[in-house]
Amino acid sequence: MQPRILLVNPPIYDFTAYDFWLKPFGMLTAAACLRRSADLTLFDYLDRNNPYGTDNAESTADKWGRGHFQAKKIDKPKQFASIHRNYRRFGAERSIFQSFIKKNIPFDHVLVQTSMTYWYPGVMEVIEDIRSFLPGASVVLGGTYVGLCPEHAKTLGADILIPDSDTTFLESLVPESGKNYQSPLWELYEKLDVGVIKLTRGCPYHCTYCGVHLLNSGGFKARPLTECIKDLQILLDKGVTDIAFYDDALLYQPDKTLIPFLEYVIAGDIKVNFHTPNALHVRFITPEIANIMVRGGFKTFYLGFESKSGDFHSKTGSKVVSRDLVTAAENLINAGADKKNITTYQIIGHPNSDLQQLEESMRFANSLGLKVMLADFSPIPSTPDGDYCKKYTDLDEPLNHNKTAFPIIHLGTEKVNHFKSLCKKLNRSL
Ligand code: SF4
Repeated sequence: MQPRILLVNPPIYDFTAYDFWLKPFGMLTAAACLRRSADLTLFDYLDRNNPYGTDNAESTADKWGRGHFQAKKIDKPKQFASIHRNYRRFGAERSIFQSFIKKNIPFDHVLVQTSMTYWYPGVMEVIEDIRSFLPGASVVLGGTYVGLCPEHAKTLGADILIPDSDTTFLESLVPESGKNYQSPLWELYEKLDVGVIKLTRGCPYHCTYCGVHLLNSGGFKARPLTECIKDLQILLDKGVTDIAFYDDALLYQPDKTLIPFLEYVIAGDIKVNFHTPNALHVRFITPEIANIMVRGGFKTFYLGFESKSGDFHSKTGSKVVSRDLVTAAENLINAGADKKNITTYQIIGHPNSDLQQLEESMRFANSLGLKVMLADFSPIPSTPDGDYCKKYTDLDEPLNHNKTAFPIIHLGTEKVNHFKSLCKKLNRSL
């Protein structure tokens, strides 16, 4: 008999959370090697399609498949006593998971996806329930939190911890598991409107605030086109309408990846909306790239800009300068992209905020007719900027990496509120 394995995407404990094309992509990809050799079941607390028969009505999605999670206000951990924002638990009710386990018992192993380091309370909740209702099952944790905070993750009581993309352990769970490439386990969703794809791994840059290189020790790699097309096909067969690219450097070496992929999409007249929630490198948005992206079905464009200050960028990784943004915006608009779907990300709460000229940077993007979205800074341990923040907060406690809390601790509530209202005002002016 095949081993029975439960995959769990935990609830989120945070001040804010929004379904910005969020899927447990790492877990669905890593566990795909078990597809033919194990009996797999998924419980995704964050699936807004309401698959577990909750009494909450299905939440509405916007035209590109994003939407609000079900949420409940809860008490704040003591670390956030000075943060005057509501703290919530997002996702399906705990009792729904408990009933689900009782109904589907037994399981031999439970794989739990982890994401943001400061979301670990949701992982703890899941482990507690597994220990109570599935005492014989082994608990395996994988993902970003495990990769960035391995020592803290050990305290949660799981049996095995695996870093982000290491499938060796999973393969060893079921020795006859397939060795050939397997696409992510999208079939575990009964209904799926939104999917995720990745054409590349890693990023060639080393921005001082970013943890991507800590999780991708192999550096940048283009994935084989045949695998990417297989991944796309699985999503299309499921009927998804919107696909988010989770690449960290989607536009790097496009001849090997993005261009042939989109040529395939265009030649096959495939109609699906593509989105780029991870920031695009604006300096790579040439007329050719802008053109093929628009023709291939990209609908929303999120551009990594962070600041118009050259000093800020030379200190943090030099990924962009202001004129790159002007050119990228022109190229996208000339290619036919809808200006109102082009958004620039700008960091708020970065320890070098004195160099960043945030207000001028926001006004600059707005002067180009582009939307601004503030990307709250989270101090990631073992990055240069994260380590610098040790003078403000204790990074050994992952709650202190929280992206709502840190900018408030660093800049103060008043300043943060000022930038947030300015952001709304500028976007309303477009
Ligand atoms: S370019 Fe983006 S993904 Fe790459 S290191 Fe910088 S912030 Fe991270």
